[in-house]
Amino acid sequence: MAVSGRSPGLPAQGTTPSTTLIRNVLLLDGTGTAARAAAVRVAGDRIAEVGALTPRPGETVIDGNGLMLAPGFIDTHSHADRALVRGNDGLGALSQGITTVVVGEDGGSPYPLAAFFDSLTRRGMPMNVAAYVGHGTVRGRAMGNDYKRHATEAEVSRMKELLAAELKSGALGLSSGLEYDPGIYSARSEVVELAKVASTAGGRYISHIRSEDRTEWDAIDEIIQIGRQARLPVQISHTKLAMKSLWGQGDSLVNVLNRSRAAGVNITADVYPYRFWQSGLSVLFPERNFTDRKAAEFALDQVAPPDEITLTSYGPHPDYAGKTVAQIAKERGTDPATTLLALVKDADDARKAGRPSGETIIAASMDERDIEKIIAWPFTNICTDGELDGRHPRGFGSFTRVLGRYVRERHAVSLPEAIRKMTSLAADNVGIANRGRVAAGAFADLVLFDPATVIDNATPADPRAVSTGIAKVWVNGKLAYGDGKTTGARGGTVVRRK
Ligand SMILES: [Zn+2]
Repeated sequence: MAVSGRSPGLPAQGTTPSTTLIRNVLLLDGTGTAARAAAVRVAGDRIAEVGALTPRPGETVIDGNGLMLAPGFIDTHSHADRALVRGNDGLGALSQGITTVVVGEDGGSPYPLAAFFDSLTRRGMPMNVAAYVGHGTVRGRAMGNDYKRHATEAEVSRMKELLAAELKSGALGLSSGLEYDPGIYSARSEVVELAKVASTAGGRYISHIRSEDRTEWDAIDEIIQIGRQARLPVQISHTKLAMKSLWGQGDSLVNVLNRSRAAGVNITADVYPYRFWQSGLSVLFPERNFTDRKAAEFALDQVAPPDEITLTSYGPHPDYAGKTVAQIAKERGTDPATTLLALVKDADDARKAGRPSGETIIAASMDERDIEKIIAWPFTNICTDGELDGRHPRGFGSFTRVLGRYVRERHAVSLPEAIRKMTSLAADNVGIANRGRVAAGAFADLVLFDPATVIDNATPADPRAVSTGIAKVWVNGKLAYGDGKTTGARGGTVVRRK
């Protein structure tokens, strides 16, 4: 590289950096304060000034037409990893105002993270990407296929080494998926030992907890104990009360979380705004006994009824995709519990035989009252839990759904508070610096939107329908989305632990 005699990145002498002025907007700065009239000047990838600003000669001026300008939204629980590596243009995220996705969730992270970050950097990213290190990922590397048991001391030591090395790549901390293989087989002490490694590195713990239905209260207690014993901030992923007998207990959940915060545990949460989740059939069987008729009957009675469990993919019988368990039961002439057992067992047999086993379901298990209570808790931020090319509409509609349905239609939270939950609180809950607030010096991730029309359009039948009301999105000062389309700019960067 030639020595130029000046710092790299600064403009040549005699020129001024090109700036952009976004004016005629109502600013929601991400802190939760009310909207105010203000203009924002962007220089390079940063916000230079905020206030009553007038255009400078030669400056690019954007007229916001009186719409609202907010910090770009931060999705603290995203499954965008795979699609980004394949070169997805980020439409699902950008079109709902998301400028930063946090991946490596539920215990599964790209390995090694350094290579993942390198490949994204080489390819270019439509939005910013941060990652956690998956517990299941390091557990899998330490134990191989022999994972259906507690780990030995030597295996836990190996996991700690792997985690420490991955954290050096700038990961935000440790993620776990204790309802999934292989995390479900871990002892709590193993997770605490690993969380201590994350804690020492200044990282955090985020978890798809061990149960969101049958043993939810034990699972909540477990994450609180992990936070207490490992002395680090802990976040509950996609918080829900996913069982009929738990419905209406949103207040009890918030009380438990408030009590542990008062006792010194920094516990927070994220949530997506849908009654239905997406996962695999096997999570309906926490004991992983696929011949247990009682478990099948319990799942259909308490977790989700046969007509609200839809197969979105199914390896052993691909034409079942799009059908409910009730419809398949009718087709096969068997009762729903027998049908469910056959479906989960055939998928498991296919997996064991190395045949296509892919089984994903969308199932309705949550109650709107609880979703509203969880959204309103002051320490809950908004997430999608979605993919950029997935079958659950959350991948395209979570943030706009909150703004349209939970803010404008139902008044579950105020608009400035909802924006705080999508921006500064999200950044704080996962440990991201200099994003999530509109302030001089912060990165210029911005979203211009219309609060009167913003709404999600994605549904299970049309999961990739683009939202209404998101006018423009900038990522690090580059326009990434406008007029309903991505611009093709690759303005994103890897976001590392602060
Ligand atoms: Zn999860």
